[in-house]
Amino acid sequence: MQASATFTARTASRLLQLGRAVVDGVLPPRCLSCGDIVDEPDALCGRCWGGITFFAPPWCVLCGLPFPHPIGEDALCGNCARERRAWDQARAVLRYDKRSRSLVLGLKHGDHTHVARAFGRWMHRAGSEVLTGADLLVPVPLHWTRLFRRRYNQAALLAHAIRAAGGPDVAADWLVRRRRTPVQGHLGPAARERNVRGAFAMRPRCSVAGKRVVIVDDVMTTGATVEECARVLRRAKAASVGVLTLARALRTGT
Ligand SMILES: [Zn+2]
Ligand SMILES: [Zn+2]
Repeated sequence: MQASATFTARTASRLLQLGRAVVDGVLPPRCLSCGDIVDEPDALCGRCWGGITFFAPPWCVLCGLPFPHPIGEDALCGNCARERRAWDQARAVLRYDKRSRSLVLGLKHGDHTHVARAFGRWMHRAGSEVLTGADLLVPVPLHWTRLFRRRYNQAALLAHAIRAAGGPDVAADWLVRRRRTPVQGHLGPAARERNVRGAFAMRPRCSVAGKRVVIVDDVMTTGATVEECARVLRRAKAASVGVLTLARALRTGT
């Protein structure tokens, strides 16, 4: 009786394992954004794909801002012509707007770490100009208290996914956030700049001197955060500083 009970339990557990393997193999892949069934894994459905603005040339040679018409290979946008940034070149995959928000925030707030794999491939492709010849990916750090709550840093997750897609090594935790900065959601450009001033530093004994580094983040809004990170990396004598983000917000009208 006991032997038969053991046999039954073991058989049931084997069947369960087998069943799981079969289900994993046949479950249709889901859209990264809305969860609808799609043809291949790590993809968007047609509707979500159509709603998202993916950046493509012609664009500003420095910041990657798309132009409506081709205006020459080395053309700069108005902002880049007006002000010099601490970074050399920036690229983003897609426009951050109300249609892409849930996709992007899925990485930050949901338990959607698997979407990072797809984003890493997109960023590797869209960022080919900033990644060529780069030595290190430097994710924008979270303050440890926020990291503790969220369990992972979405920028580091993206950096590792870019590395997995063929990108350079990840210098995780080389850049640290010295103080907690308030959430920037409702702040204007000047307030954001004040908010992050002096917030970052190099971790002692981590040297980027002479290295070509690329800052990685999920969203670039006004650019205040990546600008401050780039200043720190410049002061630490990085040979060049690129920026690669998943999404970038554009002011309406641009
Ligand atoms: Zn969808
Ligand atoms: Zn530009």
